[in-house]
Amino acid sequence: MEKCLFCRLAAGEIPSDTLFEDDRVKAFKDINPGAPVHFLVIPKEHIASVRDLAEHDADLLGHIFDVINTQAKRAGLVPNGYRIVVNHGADAGQSVQHLHFHVLGGRKLSWPPG
Ligand code: 5GP
Ligand code: ZN
Repeated sequence: MEKCLFCRLAAGEIPSDTLFEDDRVKAFKDINPGAPVHFLVIPKEHIASVRDLAEHDADLLGHIFDVINTQAKRAGLVPNGYRIVVNHGADAGQSVQHLHFHVLGGRKLSWPPG
């Protein structure tokens, strides 16, 4: 099966501005930032969307949130705050079919999102 965009990025076949990576996850800057700080955290394994997560992904998810919090602090987003976003499906505007957590900050973010 052909690898998806973020599987290729996770494998290093597509370059990215990487903030952190290990055997399970990668954190990298969004190519089209929506805030002064905007990075993505992805599992290296292909999981198409948040709806494909199940109980057995608990460890992976804990690790992803640990990476999110560590990188958010490193990017200067603590204590002012940051937003974590996961888009699923057409109405939410998911454009890459590989699970990714957006982390946005560095300015006051409006609510609710558009
Ligand atoms: P979605 O719309 O699926 O929630 O988010 C996909 C995100 O991936 C978008 O914010 C988009 O800018 C980002 N993106 C798409 N292609 C690339 C790429 O090749 N490299 C990086 N770093 N980000 C990408
Ligand atoms: Zn993938």
